[in-house]
Amino acid sequence: MATKNTKPDVAPAIRAFYLAGCQWTVSLSKDITEMGTCNPMTYEIVLKENMTQQAIEATFFHELVHAIKFTMGETNHDEREVEAFGNLLHQTFVQLWRVDTSKI
Ligand SMILES: [Zn+2]
Repeated sequence: MATKNTKPDVAPAIRAFYLAGCQWTVSLSKDITEMGTCNPMTYEIVLKENMTQQAIEATFFHELVHAIKFTMGETNHDEREVEAFGNLLHQTFVQLWRVDTSKI
């Protein structure tokens, strides 16, 4: 019997990650008006809870790009660039996480 890939979707799997030695936390909240926020003072990414899995993931990668830029010392972010970069990261990671190993 072929084994299905049991790797979790991206967003629920990520609760914390490190960038340049700083621990960032990721949480879901229904109390925010934006789809996501990235706070470089508290190293927190908060994602709106009541969105589709796809939207939560896409928003996570968008906020991750903000976190990376803050880590690089950039405080003035071009939202168009952040959105495009986040979408490309998302596309790449979806391929890495969701490969159906039963077809290999
Ligand atoms: Zn943004």
